[in-house]
Amino acid sequence: LNNRFLAEQEYESITLDGEHVSLLLNAGLELKTDQNNAHVCDGVGLYRTEAWFMQKGQFPSQLEQENWYREVLTSYYPNPVVMRTLDIGGDKVLDYFNITEENPFLGWRGIRISLDHPELFLDQLKAMLKANIGLGNLKIMLPMISGTEEVDEALGLFEQAYFELNEHFPEQQIDRPDIGIMLEVPSSVFMLPEWSKKVDFCSVGSNDLTQYLLAVDRANARVAELFNPYHPGVLRVLSKIASECENYELPFSLCGELGGDPEGAILLIAMGYRRLSMNLSSLNKVKWVLRRLSVADMEQLLSECLAQSTAKQVLRLTRNFMLEHN
Ligand code: PEP
Ligand code: MG
Repeated sequence: LNNRFLAEQEYESITLDGEHVSLLLNAGLELKTDQNNAHVCDGVGLYRTEAWFMQKGQFPSQLEQENWYREVLTSYYPNPVVMRTLDIGGDKVLDYFNITEENPFLGWRGIRISLDHPELFLDQLKAMLKANIGLGNLKIMLPMISGTEEVDEALGLFEQAYFELNEHFPEQQIDRPDIGIMLEVPSSVFMLPEWSKKVDFCSVGSNDLTQYLLAVDRANARVAELFNPYHPGVLRVLSKIASECENYELPFSLCGELGGDPEGAILLIAMGYRRLSMNLSSLNKVKWVLRRLSVADMEQLLSECLAQSTAKQVLRLTRNFMLEHN
């Protein structure tokens, strides 16, 4: 079976009825190794910068970051790399930055920390912008956005970083990368009319979005069975996001684990997602499946799934669909 999937590398990621679906890589966790896989994907849809910070004994300097980001951008060039700004807090801790909270997933995490420590955020943004000089394949993504103030403040700090760099290096041509936000807090889904005017793209973090929609800790084994992105309530929200983004012409993608699940990928494609970012091990599997199905068939399945009232029923339908279509 593995060999069969491996051969997928040779093929374009196109459904039976000719729809192209960009398959992107979730990278960063494995540091060096995933940079050898640039040729199997259409770029990086989520580069988790915090993984590298977690391996360090202290905050890396701006220059160290710049060198690291340049290496990453170069590995995937000319394909785009969506670099997420530091997303610590919750389950991701740095040995050298103490966060002790009773409720870490509802606490100080993601963009909240960056905005409370503008010196760290500015350093990271400047390092990314400098690393991108002469390349131009960088996109920047902001994690855990829950309110308009955060969008505005983060964009304001980006402007500051850009301005200061231009002042320091007037002879350099510094690109303005696209800036996007992650949709992982339920409130963000309802703010797209406003936020689509402020940012260049968005990407659904279905892991956190599921956690917050269902009020189920994604890391707690005791309630793991309740953590289910196939819950019709979650699927309906994912579908709403796709139609809102289409409506407001905001480019959108998904980078949570759901996109790397063949059943999940099919439902997402039916909803209108054309950019899915996933772990390396899922890429060829998802491609194998989507090349053998038409969007029309996937849409038929989706409409049935959206009408179900439990995740169990949804999964039964998707599994039967897979069997029927080989
Ligand atoms: C997510 O929440 O779905 C996501 C992609 O981010 P992370 O898993 O790194 O929190
Ligand atoms: Mg997340």
